[in-house]
Amino acid sequence: MTITHAEEYREPQLVAPLIERIRRRSRKPVRLMEVCGTHTVSIFRSGIRSLLPETITLLSGPGCPVCVTAQRDIDACIALAAMPGVMLTTFGDLMRVPGSHGSLRQEKAAGHDIRIVYSAMDALELAAENPDRNVVFIGIGFETTAPTVAAAIAVANQRNIRNFLVYSVHKTVPQALEALVNDPETRIDGFLLPGHVSVITGLAAYRPFVSRHAIPCVVAGFEPADILLAIAMLIDQMEDGRAALENAYPRAVTEAGNAKAKALMQQVFEPVDAIWRGLGQIPASGLGFRGPYRNHDAAEALRPDPGNVQEPAACACGDVLKGIKTPLDCPLFGTACTPMHPVGPCMVSSEGTCAAYFRYHPRT
Ligand code: SF4
Repeated sequence: MTITHAEEYREPQLVAPLIERIRRRSRKPVRLMEVCGTHTVSIFRSGIRSLLPETITLLSGPGCPVCVTAQRDIDACIALAAMPGVMLTTFGDLMRVPGSHGSLRQEKAAGHDIRIVYSAMDALELAAENPDRNVVFIGIGFETTAPTVAAAIAVANQRNIRNFLVYSVHKTVPQALEALVNDPETRIDGFLLPGHVSVITGLAAYRPFVSRHAIPCVVAGFEPADILLAIAMLIDQMEDGRAALENAYPRAVTEAGNAKAKALMQQVFEPVDAIWRGLGQIPASGLGFRGPYRNHDAAEALRPDPGNVQEPAACACGDVLKGIKTPLDCPLFGTACTPMHPVGPCMVSSEGTCAAYFRYHPRT
């Protein structure tokens, strides 16, 4: 059997010395936050939590795009789906997220035209094939997916496909880090920065944040050895009394990132204030449309009314996303709220913290 490149980073001979290094060096209690849903799932799946010394607490942050989407945006998407002449297109995760008065899945069952697509380009083709409909794509995700959506909008503009609209709830990661450290309720000693997002943004995107706050930050890949190396580098910084931005994923992440993807994103979008579930409004953390592309803005063109917005009662998703609570602190976890019957988005998404706890955390 041949070993794949990714599998090399799961090999015991690579992982064991890192665990040993972390155990040897870690003295003072620290709270580290991973800001990426893929990290959350990988940490659980590989059992990393159980291998770390008691001095280290891992917190899961706002790294799941579906989870951080504000309730009013979920409700606005549901309102869009119900509008005459609209065909709503979305990634599958969003279908089951409970809005204030229902979900997209329920809207679909009620007869509204909602389609699951795998990319914004798929939605663009649907728009080209259905010129008499407004085809709305829900643009959700961080810097990883925003460039692909920007590309679809740029192509729509070029091909003059005017019925292709995007409801943009994209969000950007460095601004969320800022909000987390400025929040008096959070206690975070260091960040495990997201690998995929950093491939696009490069290390440079975090430099202003790290120099402002002097907080240890390390970019991590997704295999167990990647994550353990990043934790070891964070612990080294903390035990040495340093606070720096370091890269534990140099095989994919560079200082400058992906110039082409960033240029495309900047061509189509501009920073706007955005509301995050749990974190509230964060300045310049969303992506709105630049002038020439505004005619593809679904919010502007269709003005969906979210109606009477209500957060799910007793759901602690907001505090889970800030690392103030774990899913186990939520009274609904595993009883009223399960992946089959989710109350909040953190139990719906495959990258959600509550879904990861439900699947992997031992229950006594
Ligand atoms: S367990 Fe369910 S209700 Fe509780 S925080 Fe998680 S998603 Fe929300």
